[in-house]
Amino acid sequence: MTQHRSTELRDETGVRAPANRTLETLDDIPREIADRRLHAEFGEHISPQKSEAIRDRPDRIEGSAEFQEAAKRAGIGGTGDVLGWSTDIESPAHVLRQDMAKEIATLIHEDLHRMTDPITRAEITSTDSGSRLYEGITEMYTEKAVKGLHGHKPGECYADSMRHAERVEQFVGDAELRRYFFKHELPENIGRAIDQLRRDQT
Ligand SMILES: [Zn+2]
Repeated sequence: MTQHRSTELRDETGVRAPANRTLETLDDIPREIADRRLHAEFGEHISPQKSEAIRDRPDRIEGSAEFQEAAKRAGIGGTGDVLGWSTDIESPAHVLRQDMAKEIATLIHEDLHRMTDPITRAEITSTDSGSRLYEGITEMYTEKAVKGLHGHKPGECYADSMRHAERVEQFVGDAELRRYFFKHELPENIGRAIDQLRRDQT
């Protein structure tokens, strides 16, 4: 068997060298895995500015007392079954300390919220059913990014909303939905599809 030095391997496989970031605390490990998985799945839709914003203000992984305290300060009540929450790209998300697979999945879910185009996010969450759909799309994307992650149990969050999201994705197309989610492209097409699916259901 031929042995390779990592530099040679990189040349042969075309795998890019990891970004020059240092790991300083244990929490940087799940954050780094989440970051790499997010970029492996959605990199072409994520602008360098968004990547930098998230890396400059890394998400906080907090024990339950600290997590609840932060939620209370932000005016978020009833964190009983909440694993994480986020507000915008500029602000770190708050993620409940759990086993590492769940931390990684929650970091990815919250970073997807942070990276959603703000107009898309405002548009889709303007109704209750839209808000549920938005959570379903976010969780569907989380599942794509954590696929094969050791210890991950799929389908534990937002199962109904995810099924709805999958119908929307089939209807409008995977690439089209990603463009809407990250860049607010094709809003008319996506809006029409969501309305159409809603009419078909009632
Ligand atoms: Zn969410």
